[in-house]
Amino acid sequence: MANKNKFYITTAIDYVNAEPHIGHAYQKIVADALARWNRLKGKKVFYLTGTDEHGQKIARSAKEAKLSEKEFADKMSKKFKDAWKNLNISFDRFIRTTDKDHEKFVQDFIKKIEKDIYKGSYEGLYCVGCERFYTEKDLADGQCQFHPGKKLEFLKEETYYFRLSRYQKQLLKLYQNDKFVLPKERRNEIINRVKDGLQDLSITRTNFSWGIDFPLDKKHVIYVWFDALLSYLSGAGKKQEFWPADIHLLGKDNGWFHAVIWPAMLLSAGYKLPKTVFIHGFLTFNGQKISKSLGNVISPEYLVGKYGSDSIRYYALRNFVFGEDGDFSEIVLAERHNNELANKLGNLVSRVTSLAEKYGAEKTENKLLKKLKIKEIEKHIEDYEFDKTINEIFAFVDICNEYVQKNKIWETKNNKQLYELLDSIKAIAILLWPFIPETSEKIAKALGFEIKLENISKPLKAGKIKKGEILFKKI
Ligand SMILES: [Zn+2]
Repeated sequence: MANKNKFYITTAIDYVNAEPHIGHAYQKIVADALARWNRLKGKKVFYLTGTDEHGQKIARSAKEAKLSEKEFADKMSKKFKDAWKNLNISFDRFIRTTDKDHEKFVQDFIKKIEKDIYKGSYEGLYCVGCERFYTEKDLADGQCQFHPGKKLEFLKEETYYFRLSRYQKQLLKLYQNDKFVLPKERRNEIINRVKDGLQDLSITRTNFSWGIDFPLDKKHVIYVWFDALLSYLSGAGKKQEFWPADIHLLGKDNGWFHAVIWPAMLLSAGYKLPKTVFIHGFLTFNGQKISKSLGNVISPEYLVGKYGSDSIRYYALRNFVFGEDGDFSEIVLAERHNNELANKLGNLVSRVTSLAEKYGAEKTENKLLKKLKIKEIEKHIEDYEFDKTINEIFAFVDICNEYVQKNKIWETKNNKQLYELLDSIKAIAILLWPFIPETSEKIAKALGFEIKLENISKPLKAGKIKKGEILFKKI
């Protein structure tokens, strides 16, 4: 496959020990916007997401639910898949780490890196929430920074190690490419920690059995992170033909695994490296840490039911600076839904199509379209600035609304100006498709055009226009 024409994007795969929430959804929405943007540009896109189903944490949750691990994983994994379908997440594969092809791939991979594996023993503190070992210096007041209040467990067991320390120099060289870890601040943190030195990584466990068998020693199962990271490779198409990934999206609790351990694994096995590892911040919800105790309100299903998938997507992409932490506020969500989607975009489309239905539209050169800053829009999205991208598109929505107002089209019945407006709405709908696909597709159907980037500059056919359905009902 020609490299230039493909785009492979992955999200973190989520642990199935708890229900999907808006924090998980946020990342999938961002990845979906990037996947759709690249499809608009005509690239062959592969979007991988899925669930992380092995390890001690899942084994314990299954036990609490009085189910076998696999039954529990089946039930929970489906909830994630359904949630993403509900949000119009256009994944190409939903990988489960219990998928047979993945399990075989992981075992074969271990054999490929045998030269970097040795047997030893481990003594130290383990956070089951993170599924990782910590040393004293990683901890704040003796606690995991991502799981404050949860007791760390002292483990002592025989284990196999991966020679991570061997890759320090190669990794530091890799970080000289300033696109490899984004954003820059997180890249600097990683560089400083790698400079401090790398310890070899324990990659097998013996005190539970819910994992992939370690092919070099049957008493051991493979460490859940080693297994999970490999899903990006095992899931990269039938024959891994989409590898290397153009971008991995992940939260800040996973930065170390993706920016340090993962490239070292790939170097060891001789695979190409991903182009970008993007580490983003966390969301809070109405000012509170997202956790089970918030109940139903953080469930994507509940939020989509109340506001519609496009409003959730729009809010998530426009309200936050991608990369930084943010607070998901339901009040702001409702305001944006009403003021921006219903009042600005919804009204523009309904007004112009109803005038065009009455008075017709006559094809003419669309001078209004020159005010659309398409170069800036493209640059913002390529720089992962989704808020600025949408602001720029909505600046043009404002221009179109002002054009209707200023020219009093409902009085003048000027059908050339109506054509310009319809043709401009076409451009708006195409550019908004990565963000609010359902709405864009409704507009495309009503005006009769195909959603492709090149159709922005191709004049709309001025056929018979019918007033479109209401796009956003106010809440
Ligand atoms: Zn933790």
